[in-house]
Amino acid sequence: MLQNRNYKDPSIKNQMTKTSNYIVLIILFSLFLNKSIAQSFECATDYIHNNLMQSDSVYRKQILLLESQIEISAQSKVHTKFRATRYRIPVVVHVVHLGEAIGTATNISDIQIQQAISGLNDRFKNTNGLGVDVELEFCLASKDPNGNSSNGINRINGSSIPNYQSNGVAPTGNTCTGAVEKTLKDLSRWPVSDYYNIWVVSKICNGGFVGYASYPVGGLYDGLVIVSTSMTSNSGTLPHEVGHGFFLYHTFNGDGGNVSCPVDTNCLVNGDRICDTPPHKQGDCVANNPCSSNGVWDNSRYNYMSYCPLVNRFTQGQKDRIRATASVSPRASLLSSGGCGSLGLNEINNTTLFSVFPNPAQSAITVSADKKLLGSAYVVYDNTGKIILKGVIFSENSTIEIGNLAAGIYLFSLGENLKQIFVVTNQ
Ligand SMILES: [Zn+2]
Repeated sequence: MLQNRNYKDPSIKNQMTKTSNYIVLIILFSLFLNKSIAQSFECATDYIHNNLMQSDSVYRKQILLLESQIEISAQSKVHTKFRATRYRIPVVVHVVHLGEAIGTATNISDIQIQQAISGLNDRFKNTNGLGVDVELEFCLASKDPNGNSSNGINRINGSSIPNYQSNGVAPTGNTCTGAVEKTLKDLSRWPVSDYYNIWVVSKICNGGFVGYASYPVGGLYDGLVIVSTSMTSNSGTLPHEVGHGFFLYHTFNGDGGNVSCPVDTNCLVNGDRICDTPPHKQGDCVANNPCSSNGVWDNSRYNYMSYCPLVNRFTQGQKDRIRATASVSPRASLLSSGGCGSLGLNEINNTTLFSVFPNPAQSAITVSADKKLLGSAYVVYDNTGKIILKGVIFSENSTIEIGNLAAGIYLFSLGENLKQIFVVTNQ
């Protein structure tokens, strides 16, 4: 969660001159460090996460499982096989406004939302050239869950929810006054298996925070919450929170609240679990890093996942973790979602790109895929729509065991839109 200290600090009025000078300094630094984003916030996702790790054994197990899967992925370098593929994540934006006309106040315009997603993509694509291209792209959904065309934006008047008009939303587990998070999200949400849900809200905890996101453990209420004023083309909040959504921690993770240097024995399991972002304390953003002289310090102090005032990059290590997360966590199903679909029926049925054989099959199928599809996720559904198998295609001819499947008709779905029906027989 991002916390705007300027909103929360009760002494802000006495600090206006100081703040103004600070803003001028930030602008000057922004001009100097071209294409960085100026930001000033604090994130409370850690508090919620730590609380859940203590109080929710299911959540704790999910996180530990995910960590072990990602560690294995990192050690096996399997993630390198993903690098040639640009993943597309379908996004649905729910604007929970206060009854204003479209384009005014909290009911932000379609164009503002489209520009925010475009800006998010610029950050992940490394258009400023200062970090790495994560090869993760976000698209406003072109289809709704029923398959109807959509612009990926839903608008809902949330003013009737108790406490929403006065205080905005109160995140689950937070003691502030506000609308109950689940009540708000129940107004409008799309299946998290097919869409990454973003809720744009008026306020969070009466202005105390500007955003927060769920770590990728799934669930009905998985997604990202952001205040309308931060849903902009140059938002640092949006890439930061999406980073959390794909399991990135803060670069200063493990600093005990700016108290001590994070442990740095094994970079895969200590701190932010990223090896090319030197560990540091939250407040250390200047030229020298008191916690470490190793690595590229700029990778941390200008990182989207820091609290430092100027941010401009994700790193290769973060890219690897994001893409490993996308391949093993509940996020994996987003990669085969049709939510971004823009291909026509002819392309959907294009068997020159891939085929599944033999058909009918008994104990195994071979998936023959064009080179450009390598790294794509696949999902096998039974005839009730239930997901039976899923994984990632790594070679042009992949064998998948299906001996334990009951006889019947199945749908093999590859990437966003390639689908083929196949039949399993007992003998
Ligand atoms: Zn954060």
